[in-house]
Formats: sequence, C-alpha cells, structure tokens
Amino acid sequence: MSATPNPPSALDLLHRVFGYAAFRGPQAEIVDHVAGGGDALVLMPTGGGKSLCFQIPALLRPGVGIVVSPLIALMQDQVDTLREAGVRAAFLNSTLDFAAVVETEKALFAGALDLLYVAPERLLTERFLNLLDRLNVAGKLALFAIDEAHCVSQWGHDFRPEYIQLSVLHERYPAVPRIALTATADDLTRREILARLGLEEARVFISSFDRPNIRYTVVERDNPRRQLLDFLAGHAGEAGIVYCLSRKKVDETAAWLVEQGIAALPYHAGLDTATRTKHQQRFLREEGIVMVATIAFGMGIDKPDVRFVAHLDLPKSLEAYYQETGRAGRDGEPAEAWMTYGLNDVVIHRQRIDESEAGEEQKRIERGKLDALLAWCETAECRRTRLLAYFAEAREGRCGNCDTCLEPPEMWDGTVAAQKAMSAALRTGQRFGAGHLIDLLRGKTSERMQQLGHDALPTFGVGADLDEAGWRSVFRQLLAAGLLHADAQAYGALKLTEAARPVLKGETALSLRRQRKAKKSAPAGRWSRQGPSAPADADPALFAALRAWRAEQARAQGKPAYVILNDKTLHELAAHRPASPEALLETHGIGAAKAERYGAELLALIAATC
Ligand code: ADP
Ligand code: ZN
Repeated sequence: MSATPNPPSALDLLHRVFGYAAFRGPQAEIVDHVAGGGDALVLMPTGGGKSLCFQIPALLRPGVGIVVSPLIALMQDQVDTLREAGVRAAFLNSTLDFAAVVETEKALFAGALDLLYVAPERLLTERFLNLLDRLNVAGKLALFAIDEAHCVSQWGHDFRPEYIQLSVLHERYPAVPRIALTATADDLTRREILARLGLEEARVFISSFDRPNIRYTVVERDNPRRQLLDFLAGHAGEAGIVYCLSRKKVDETAAWLVEQGIAALPYHAGLDTATRTKHQQRFLREEGIVMVATIAFGMGIDKPDVRFVAHLDLPKSLEAYYQETGRAGRDGEPAEAWMTYGLNDVVIHRQRIDESEAGEEQKRIERGKLDALLAWCETAECRRTRLLAYFAEAREGRCGNCDTCLEPPEMWDGTVAAQKAMSAALRTGQRFGAGHLIDLLRGKTSERMQQLGHDALPTFGVGADLDEAGWRSVFRQLLAAGLLHADAQAYGALKLTEAARPVLKGETALSLRRQRKAKKSAPAGRWSRQGPSAPADADPALFAALRAWRAEQARAQGKPAYVILNDKTLHELAAHRPASPEALLETHGIGAAKAERYGAELLALIAATC
C-alpha cells in the first residue's frame, strides 16, 4: 500500500482491499495483536480465514511480511489472488528462474512488496538470511508468518526438517513479530509448535473446529455407483473429490463416471508424476472437474470452491475423515461431505488391523479409532455434535445441517433380532460370515445349506420378518458395537465377543437404527459440466452469464476462476444485482482494485441480463 496521510485501520483494509464486510471469529483480535508487534499461534480450521490474520498486519506495519509455506505449488495462485486485490505480493521458490529471483529481490529492496511468500528451504539459505539482515537493519521487516506450522511436528504426516530450523527467525530477529498458523488442532502438536519455534511467549488463539457450511451425510451402501450418480446429479458442474480405498477402484470409478458424461479424472500414487501433475492442475484450473482419488490426493489442495467430498469407502479414522472432508467448502459456501458405508467396510478394516505388522499397542489404538468412527457412522445423534465431541469440543444441540438432524433415523428395539443373529452364529460354530448367516435366518435354502445341514437348525428361517438389507444393517450395527467380531484368520467368520453375553441372555436391551428404505432414485438430473444450478435467491440467467464471463476472464489471464471472483461473489452479484459502483463495492470479495478493473464490465453485464 502506498503511504497515506492517515494510516488505514484494519477494518478499512478489510473493506477496501479484500472487499469483506466484517472480520470473522477471532480475526480482528489476532490482527490487532500481531499488528501491535505480538507473537501469535493461530489454530483455525481449514477455510476459517487464516490468511487475513497475517496479510492485514503485514499491510498495516512498515516493510514486508515474509510468509513461510511448504506448499510451493500454491504460491502462484496465492500471489495472483493478492495481486488481483491490489496487494503487492511475490514469491520465491525453486520454480523461478534466476532472472525472476533477482527481479523479486530488487523489488524487495525497493520497498515495492507488501508480502513475500517463500519456501522454507529458500528462507534458510545464507543468501536469503543476508537479505533479511539488511531489511531488518532498515526496519523493513513487517512480520514473519509461518503457515502450516504443524510441519515442525516429527510425529505428524507433514513433517519438514527445515521447519525445525525456523527457530533461527526468533534468534536472529527477536523484534519482528511472528505468527504461526495451522489447522491441526491436537494438543501435542500445539505444544510442539510453541516449543520448537520458540513461541512460548506467544498468544494462542483457538477457534472452533466446526465447519458449519459442510453438510454431513452417511448412506447405507446398496448400489454404490447408482448412489454416487444420484449424489453427483445434485452437484452438476461443480468441482469435487471422490475418495476410494484402492488404486484399482479409483481407475474403475473414474472411467465409469466418464462413461456417464462426467468430467472425472483419476489420481493415485500408481500414476506417473506427469499424469498426476496434469490432473491436479486441471482440477485446480478448470471448473467442474470431479477428482477420483486415493488419499494420496489432498495435501496442499487449497482450491476454495471444492463443493463436495464423497467417500466410497470408509476412511481410517475420524481424524482422517475430518481432514479429508475438510477440503470441501473452504470459501464458506455450502458444501457436502457424503459417504457410503456398508457391512464390508467393517469387516475389511477390522481385518486390516488384525493382519497388520504393527505392535499390540498400536493395534489397540487403531481399533479404538475404528470403533469411534463406526459408532459415528451408526449414530442417531447430530453428526456435527458427535464429530466435534471426538475432538474434545463441546457443542449444544442439533446442527440442522447433517443427515441425522434433517431426517432423524427411526430407532427400534433390536434385542430379539440381535439374539437371533448371534444364535445363528453360535449354532453354526462361529465359522461363517454375514452372507451365509443372513440366508440361514431368512430361510433361504441352497445345496450348500443342505450339505451343511443348516436348514435343519432351529434358527433356520426365524428371521423372515426382516429383508436382506435389514439383516445386513443388524449385523453391521452388531459389529460396530463390538458384539460381534470378524475373525481375520477365519476368512471373516463372525464370532461373539464378551460384550455379546448380556444381550444374548436378555439382560440388556439393544436399540438399533432402522434401515432406511432405499430411496427410488430421482430421475437423475443430467450432470452437465457447464451448469451448476444457481442458488435459490439468485437470478439463474445472470448467474450463468456471470459464470461464463468469469470463465472467459480466467482463460484469457491463465488463472483459476476463483482468483478472478469467487463463488460467493458471483452468488451475491446474481442475488442483489448491484446497479452502481457503490453497490458493487458492497459485494463480498469486491474491493477497490477489482471494482476498478472489472466494475464497468460487471455492471454492464448485470444491466443487460434480466
Ligand atoms: P484458511 O487458510 O484458514 O484455510 P483462508 O484464509 O484461505 O482460510 O480463507 C478461506 C476463505 O474465507 C477465503 O475464500 C477467504 O476469502 C474467506 N474469508 C476469510 N476471512 C473472511 C472474512 N472476514 N469475511 C469474508 N470472507 C472471508
Ligand atoms: Zn446435525
């Protein structure tokens, strides 16, 4: 920002540069604290708005703000987004050639930068530290922001050895404020960050980890492809991620979706680097791409307008689920986390743990995590409340934005059904899986049934009152509740556990969730890449015209669409139809620079489209 007679306030900058109406949650307090020279540790969920917490203080303080980030693939987009808002930003990482580096360094010394993004390995070079020394002497270091600060943790997935050496910033520039930021909430990581970065004196800001704009839904799997297609029909033309457990399933699902006319791409560690990069790039740059992926895809996916994350297989734990679904809806607009879940998931995951090479202690921990996830899948309570409770965050009541809130499941007394299921397992020597036991209960005879003499057992046919899906639901819930155990050594044979005894003896009752009747799939809305439906309050013709205009801009400038204007901005433009430059500036995400650059075109477009 060029110097003005009256220094702008944080709120001025929020309006004028970023085009936002108000600070969110603790942002205002954090900005104040850091702009005043204090150190901070900021724990905020993905999409919470961490960037403004260092961007605005950097603009308020004299000199340049240095942002350390390991995600070099994102720097270009981050810098483009800032430049679109009129902020003087640049980056330094290994993707730049020498000439570009020299030019950026020159700008740095000319005082022509407000923010400089830099990779940690670059920051730690003698050359760069010498640059910082000179800026420091001149009083031109506004602050250090250490993004993805959990990378200092040796126990985490994203450990970066260079991050530990970032303590040098504290030693070398004790007077420059530092702000560390992460979306990783656990207490151990938090303490590691404080200790390793020498931030013991820093103020810690902890936000709620709720993602209110994400709707959680878990459906019982019957025909997963049909179910996925129906789900996608509600997201026509929108970008999203479909997670599968195996590479093979990723390839097959992506190919099948393409046959259905959906712009799907596969991503997993078995693809060569060039293909992976190409697919990731297309996902980031183009609109409406569905990425079908293993969990190899995710780290550093900063795309703000991912509208859904679908799981075709159960993730490993609630931590993994929260992280994977968290990639949806960073821009705060409505987004969906959707998962299909079935009996097989329970059996496969239990076997995976039993058969793993891990020590007993590790297996015990993993079993505990799986149990928590299964209980969450089967819960009749609010999913959001239960999810946050798992992360030790208390939340009252129902959220109204998850499947169990929107359509509370019916509960029934499943004691007798459970007893029948368990006695079927007992009578057959605990040597069979759910499929055979269900046939037995339903009185479905076959050659094998007769050979085994199972059609002569007293339990044969006692369960004709429930259909097959109903029985699968019972077995799944018994497995999830730990009353039955799938024995990996015996090909997944179901065995009773100690916990089954009181139910079997009738000492405790068992309440079960009623299996939902599979919905007759709505005549599948054609999935089209061009047209996500306009939000209810928006003018559909205008919304479509704005999207087309944005796509054209993005193409012409070679930038992702969201860098030009984000979804929420389009939504507000199509809903409020601003008719003057002043009204335009009231729109979310339109600050002075964007108004100047695009204002006339947007106003003309709005006036022309009724
Ligand atoms: P994080 O880094 O915490 O994941 P970002 O800083 O990328 O989140 O912000 C997420 C989204 O929220 C961005 O699209 C950003 O523009 C928007 N945002 C952040 N703060 C505000 C605010 N105060 N008002 C409106 N939108 C905001
Ligand atoms: Zn809820």
